[in-house]
Amino acid sequence: MMKSKETKQVTFQGRGTSRGLAVGKVQLLEDIEKNIVRKGIEEAGIPGEIARLQDALLATRTQLMEIRKHVGETIDEKAASIFDVHIMMIDDCSFIEKVVEGLRKRKLNLEHVLRDVMRIYAKRFSDMEEGYIQERGADVKDLMNRILQNLEEEGNGTVIERREGVIIVAHDLLPSVTALLDKRLILGIATEMGGATSHAAIIARALGIPAVVGLEALCERVQSGDEILIDGTQGRVVLNPSQDQRAQYGHLEHLRSDLLAGLKKTKNKAVKTTDGYAIRVFANLELPEHLDRVLESGADGIGLFRTEFLFLSRPDLPSEDEQAAAYEAVAQAMHPSKVVIRTLDVGGDKFMSHQHIKEQSHSPLGCRGIRLSLIRPDVFKVQLRAILRAARFGNIQLMYPMVSAVDEIHQADELLRTAKAELEAEGVAHGADLVSGVMIETPSAALTADRMASQTGFFSVGTNDLVQYTIAVDRLEQEVAPLYDPLHPAVLSLLQHTVAAAKQHQISTSVCGEMAGSPLLLPILIGLGITDLSVAPGSVPLIKHLAANLSQKKAASLAQDALIATDKESILQASREMLEEAVPELKELLFF
Ligand code: PEP
Ligand code: MG
Repeated sequence: MMKSKETKQVTFQGRGTSRGLAVGKVQLLEDIEKNIVRKGIEEAGIPGEIARLQDALLATRTQLMEIRKHVGETIDEKAASIFDVHIMMIDDCSFIEKVVEGLRKRKLNLEHVLRDVMRIYAKRFSDMEEGYIQERGADVKDLMNRILQNLEEEGNGTVIERREGVIIVAHDLLPSVTALLDKRLILGIATEMGGATSHAAIIARALGIPAVVGLEALCERVQSGDEILIDGTQGRVVLNPSQDQRAQYGHLEHLRSDLLAGLKKTKNKAVKTTDGYAIRVFANLELPEHLDRVLESGADGIGLFRTEFLFLSRPDLPSEDEQAAAYEAVAQAMHPSKVVIRTLDVGGDKFMSHQHIKEQSHSPLGCRGIRLSLIRPDVFKVQLRAILRAARFGNIQLMYPMVSAVDEIHQADELLRTAKAELEAEGVAHGADLVSGVMIETPSAALTADRMASQTGFFSVGTNDLVQYTIAVDRLEQEVAPLYDPLHPAVLSLLQHTVAAAKQHQISTSVCGEMAGSPLLLPILIGLGITDLSVAPGSVPLIKHLAANLSQKKAASLAQDALIATDKESILQASREMLEEAVPELKELLFF
């Protein structure tokens, strides 16, 4: 069903999850399935529908081969192999026979019959116990969307086929879809679903492009090719922006890029607050292919390397050699700066399950992070050995995610010692002094931080999860997103407790959740005594510049107010004023 084109200006308000702005053409990743109507057809119309099916299957196969080649060249062969599964499905005669049979028996339009057959296939997969097979249900859906697109008179096309930059609009952006997008051509991401720490948001920040999530009914109002403006700072999307708006935004964007260029000149400088507290700003790394952005950002190192990305989009597990090569490449590129490698953190709210890791749970309270590694020492030890090998360059640290009890640190460190002993016995070069640390992501870890601190090398607070577990608010759940509040006094008090315990045991505490990259929250974090931050590469220059212009003493007084606040707005206002006073030249841009 064709939507009528919106010609008026329409503003959508959502939540900005990656700063900056862009104006460009929409690329709608449409949920075509929703728009299918049921139509009866005459007997005489059946051969025509079968011919349409054949044409669409042929076009789909050709596209899949191209995408497979593209992903193989730009990502890797493993990621490309997902599309082998799609090609296999499309070549499956029984599926085509079922559609033709449905057309003949039901005398309904092709789109409708195709959707029903695909749904049966998808359900069969989803009902399977095995996680990896379950995911094939999502592959069936991907494939169906592609065939349906090819059945449309005017196909939507994919980003890969376009040559100009686009703003991706989608109901939700799944990891499998993200793998398909040519990231160089994405100017921004706007989704109906998602929270600040959703996959779409994290990827957008990694790419340094604006993102807005939680935009209700956006997909119903826009079409591919529409002109939109996306403002990731204000959380706003404007369909058909006026000339004035474009000019105003253009002016601000110009200022912003000038500012960033200016800040980059001082990028490799060590930063101190105005009253002399050293602040180090590290970068988060999701994919080794983003390493250039980290190097360009002037970060003091990598504070969080999310290794799970090496385990995604592939049917098998990465070998020790493969992992070691990836970790070594990052260690070497960053040397002598520090790189903190986080061990596998699949399960829970994010990422896919795996045929070889059946134990992981989709529940955020289930088997994820270190819990999973400890019940799969075979998988964990391969990763530990690979990290130890990369640690021979001397700049690697390792940390465990989702720790909730001291005993988990003991068990993990014991496996680390075994891995070390094995490498030693085998005569394999490794970093024998590798330091391990703990992510503070659960209230239980924060509340027992004194005991944890005596048993580990450092802390890194994962505020994305700490907020989720403290406030009992699913970080991806749309309906409760307004409750997701890093400024909640309970979260701040756990942070304060963690910093105090770390100081007492003379270990460092960094913050590597998304909170660390938010200018407005920076005075509070510095005020709580945080000296190490790890943020998306694009945020490094601004966070460094702000930190260098803040007074720790004034920030500490604001943090004390925030800890007992009953009125969050007044804290935000005070933080805004503190930043405006610290960097008056950025006033116009700071919250833009
Ligand atoms: C966090 O929870 O803050 C964190 C950094 O880990 P992730 O977002 O990967 O769960
Ligand atoms: Mg986490």
